[in-house]
Amino acid sequence: MLKRAVAVTDSVAATPVKAGKSPKTIGRVVKNRLAASNFGKKAVQHAATYSSYQRKKFEVTREWTEYTHLYPQFTTGFHELLGLRVGGFRSAEWRANSGSIDPKFKTECPFCHQKEPETLAHMMIVCPRWKIQRNIYIGDLITRARGKTLSIDDAATLLLGGECTGERIRNWPILKVNSPEAKVNCPCIQVSAFLMKVAPQRIATLRSIALTPKPRRGAGSSKGQLPNG
Ligand SMILES: [Zn+2]
Repeated sequence: MLKRAVAVTDSVAATPVKAGKSPKTIGRVVKNRLAASNFGKKAVQHAATYSSYQRKKFEVTREWTEYTHLYPQFTTGFHELLGLRVGGFRSAEWRANSGSIDPKFKTECPFCHQKEPETLAHMMIVCPRWKIQRNIYIGDLITRARGKTLSIDDAATLLLGGECTGERIRNWPILKVNSPEAKVNCPCIQVSAFLMKVAPQRIATLRSIALTPKPRRGAGSSKGQLPNG
């Protein structure tokens, strides 16, 4: 039950908390939501998420959230990272499959227009659109991850603090330190900084190509409207 609760914790944490909230506030919101939830029921609902979370062994590095309050400048990135660790990434491929953007993006990345879908691994490791941000923040981590001869999907898991075929990035989480500056270059923060830079531009592009939802049947007719508004 405790293990399930961890996945639930991360899942509710990934539910957007209002932008600009501090990690401490996010933590409090998560705690309150968790206290109000039914662990067993939620765990079933999030079974697929939990399975992935467990398989990638994210639990090993889950303590990374404990010291995020020391680095409020990375709050947005931490929030993005939480979402990715629990399978909350909505790729362009996923959006194309759901009909919210053009179907051509099932096989084409809308950010670099290469003929391959935008997946989590593509965004983090491959997409030329984010090359500058990638080189600045996580270039060395990718070299370390790929040096382990992993696929790009597995390398992306390592970047998020997970484990594949017994490999993981050492000292990934934020560790308790006396001086906040001492660990500012830890992998967890590097990845968060990368996500913080990429996410706003990515969302802006996705919004610009979003398809207008089809009106529901009957919408716009006067049927059912109350008189005088
Ligand atoms: Zn791309």
